[in-house]
Amino acid sequence: MFGKLSAPAVREIERVLGTKHVRRDAPLRREYGEDALGRGHPPDLVVFPGSAADVAAVVRLCAAQRVPLTPRGAGTGYTGGAVPSRGGVVLALDRMDRIKAIDEANLLAVVEPNVVTGALQAAVERAGLFYPPDPASLDRSAIGGNVAECAGGPRAFKYGTTRRYVLGLEAVLPTGEIIRTGGKTVKNVVGYDLTQLLIGSEGTLAIITEITLRLVPRPAARRVLRAWFANVEKAVAAVRGVLAAGVVPAALELVDAVCLAAARARGGAGIAPDGAGAALIVEVDGTPRAVDEELRRAAEACEAAGAGGVVAARDEAERTALWQARRDLSLALRAAAPRKINHDVVVPQARIPDLFDAVDGLRRDLQLDIACFGHVGDGNIHVNLLVDPEDPAQMARAHAAERRLFEAVVALEGSISGEHGIGFTKQPYLHLELSAETIALMRRLKQAFDPHGILNPGKIFPEVAS
Ligand SMILES: Cc1cc2nc3c(=O)[nH]c(=O)nc-3n(C[C@H](O)[C@H](O)[C@H](O)COP(=O)(O)OP(=O)(O)OC[C@H]3O[C@@H](n4cnc5c(N)ncnc54)[C@H](O)[C@@H]3O)c2cc1C
Repeated sequence: MFGKLSAPAVREIERVLGTKHVRRDAPLRREYGEDALGRGHPPDLVVFPGSAADVAAVVRLCAAQRVPLTPRGAGTGYTGGAVPSRGGVVLALDRMDRIKAIDEANLLAVVEPNVVTGALQAAVERAGLFYPPDPASLDRSAIGGNVAECAGGPRAFKYGTTRRYVLGLEAVLPTGEIIRTGGKTVKNVVGYDLTQLLIGSEGTLAIITEITLRLVPRPAARRVLRAWFANVEKAVAAVRGVLAAGVVPAALELVDAVCLAAARARGGAGIAPDGAGAALIVEVDGTPRAVDEELRRAAEACEAAGAGGVVAARDEAERTALWQARRDLSLALRAAAPRKINHDVVVPQARIPDLFDAVDGLRRDLQLDIACFGHVGDGNIHVNLLVDPEDPAQMARAHAAERRLFEAVVALEGSISGEHGIGFTKQPYLHLELSAETIALMRRLKQAFDPHGILNPGKIFPEVAS
């Protein structure tokens, strides 16, 4: 059972952090009780630490009194990861938002957890360097949250996800000790790889207080094209054609007809003209000559697959507008239905057509509006169920669709989450993908890090918090 912090413990936190960084007013508790999922639970207290030492002090007090503690970055997660499901304290890392160093000589950056992803990208690009991971939420999400969720994005196809760019971490354990993992080198095989274990651990193993990130040289040139097709099958065939042409795009995104219609309804900048059944966005980067050549080959592959049109962005402004239109798809879908249930499933490249067949089956059998877009290059397709929570019959069909979708994805040798994690929304489906033995080992790891079960209880494994 969890308790509430005693009045002396709250006074001690106020003494360490300063009273203005310890809040319990209702509107703030509501705000910090939700993430992008929109289904929250208010904490008792929201605290704003300014350093790892502050975090450790709060953790020790919560551990001593068995009070749940939930780390929070920017709150853009889609699976309720930052929601304090069991109440207690939200450890809001808002104040820890400094870029401590951009080290050009060693191709790395050292940051506090709540640096906004897009702000870091802009800062390193000014120094001629590049931080590739690009979740569509990059104008709001924080690097610490990206690490805790192992965020991906369009560029993951060529550059990999957040995991590939984390060299080292400073973290506070749920028992209050401050540890350092990894370091400043790309190679490091000393002991267990705790850095990689903490990446994607959804704030259940430790609180990340500093991140050392690997950077790469900024590509000299980038170009993007959009192509549209009569249907998804043709667009997927074009993807195969682009890859067969020897092009490794920096990003390869697919948008289906439901998304295109939603974008148009919201007056969004065009990805494809009216009537298109699907669209692809293909970006290439590298040296200017290679980029021109690869863009030409990608355009030819799209045309060979039967594209209705292929248009390359003429300049950086058009390129930026196209990516903004792609990022705005989430908002367009949100406006298209009272609720959007977004699942970020992923399948091996060759099984993408089977995934779209499975989604068509769900549309047909369960009479649901389902919109698909995503990172088709790496098989990570966002399947959005557009529903009305006030319609119980439709919600029941949506839950049936969710289960059938996850079963189909696992049968296709894919994964039920490529980016958003389990949080509390996908707990019931964990066993579809992981064996009982694997889940038991993960539970033992959780127990080793967090013997009192206070850190972000109610996530990934429901029973840990019971
Ligand atoms: C419009 C939109 C588009 C999105 N597009 C993408 C996308 O393309 N790719 C993608 O991967 N995701 C995407 N997301 C999901 C989300 O932005 C990512 O999961 C992001 O990494 C979350 O970062 P955050 O700072 O908001 O974390 P939060 O939501 O605050 O927290 C997420 C999880 O991380 C934990 N956490 C946060 N900070 C820390 C820390 N310092 N130490 C330990 N644990 C911590 C929390 O406890 C929680 O479990 C999108 C979300 C939205 C709303």
